[in-house]
Amino acid sequence: MPRETNDRFPQRCSFCGKPYGQVKRLFAGHESNICNECVTLCADLLHTSPEVDQAEEVQNPPKPAEIKAFLDQYVIGQEEAKKTVSVAVYNHYKRINYQTKLKASSKLQRDTQDVELEKSNILLLGPTGTGKTLIARSLAKFLKVPFSIADATVLTEAGYVGEDVENILVRLFQAADFNPLRTERGIIYIDEIDKISRKDGNPSITRDVSGEGVQQGLLKILEGTVANIPPKGGRKHPEQAFVQIDTTNILFICGGAFDGLERLVARRLGNKVVGFEADVTNITKDTPDILEHVIPSDLMEYGLIPELVGRLPVVAALKPLDERALMSILTDPRNALTKQYAKLLEMEGVKLIFEPGALTAAVKVAMQKKTGARALRSIFEKAMLEIMYEVPSSSDATEVIISEDTILKGERPRLVTRSENKKAG
Ligand code: ADP
Repeated sequence: MPRETNDRFPQRCSFCGKPYGQVKRLFAGHESNICNECVTLCADLLHTSPEVDQAEEVQNPPKPAEIKAFLDQYVIGQEEAKKTVSVAVYNHYKRINYQTKLKASSKLQRDTQDVELEKSNILLLGPTGTGKTLIARSLAKFLKVPFSIADATVLTEAGYVGEDVENILVRLFQAADFNPLRTERGIIYIDEIDKISRKDGNPSITRDVSGEGVQQGLLKILEGTVANIPPKGGRKHPEQAFVQIDTTNILFICGGAFDGLERLVARRLGNKVVGFEADVTNITKDTPDILEHVIPSDLMEYGLIPELVGRLPVVAALKPLDERALMSILTDPRNALTKQYAKLLEMEGVKLIFEPGALTAAVKVAMQKKTGARALRSIFEKAMLEIMYEVPSSSDATEVIISEDTILKGERPRLVTRSENKKAG
């Protein structure tokens, strides 16, 4: 136990060298001393050190219900997907915790030698603009772990033109402020995973560079490997020092629309579909829920290699968004578009008003575009552009009114000014 030094033990700090008298306190240990300033410095280092962060975060993974409650604030609908993902993420961090303990305790290792918790990467299926990326991004925000998005379509096997698979890790490394330990606990969202499927579901067909080769490359980092990454990205240059990243504990969430997968599922389910237009309409009728019945063999038939399917054991299907969901997306989430525009105008001292019918019209237009909630943003950006341009220069504006015709016919939103208000009053 260190004790405070006294006159009988006049010393200097063994760390900074300052003598007793020049510092407020000096603590004596076995054949060494430390002053109050060095203690404070060490405490700061401990609090910012990645090792401590890691231990703290991993020890207390939030419960599935807490994760889902957070997702609910941002992601409308998609109840099953949010629940599945919440449980998978909870188990993921519990698994890391378990392994950390296992390493720390050889007794525990003896007792539980035969239990092996496998990593559960996640596959999100569903139409574009339904919240796949949003779920992944919101998770990372909640867990306060680094997050990055990669697009599977730009990846190629090492040696071909395009991006090396390792570059996915470089982006996460950058998002983790170049801290390898934080990187190793991050979340990576890989978009458009369906686009690298084998062109032919038959595994014996000759290797194709764009699909199967990339899947093989991805497989390695998904299952856990120590990858050498060039910290600045780009191609590997011999002169660039590499950073080693262990991907074992990185959570991978892959997403894709998997167009046409419904047909494979329906066929397997005995819903005889032969594959031409007439039959397709038959499927569309059931489409909202059909992807919930996906099993690994459907994904293999679609063109994912069996090993990759095996590394994505958690599968969640997102549903197309209906009018009600789109309306809710416009108004309810913490970062809802209407709230964002209202806030921006409020900062200019202007109130934003939507006339009845304006939001419904936006939802209708968005439904026609068939790009999920993604269409809402472009509709509003177009409708609001003029006003967002004008208001900051107008000292007289008090209200902006968005009508149905603003959305449907591109009419200018109405700007109410202080002088107008006075006249009316
Ligand atoms: P994708 O499913 O193609 O990954 P995104 O998650 O990127 O779609 O969503 C595109 C946009 O639409 C984002 O701005 C997101 O905020 C919004 N959005 C999509 N789905 C939802 C949802 N279920 N709840 C709230 N916003 C959503």
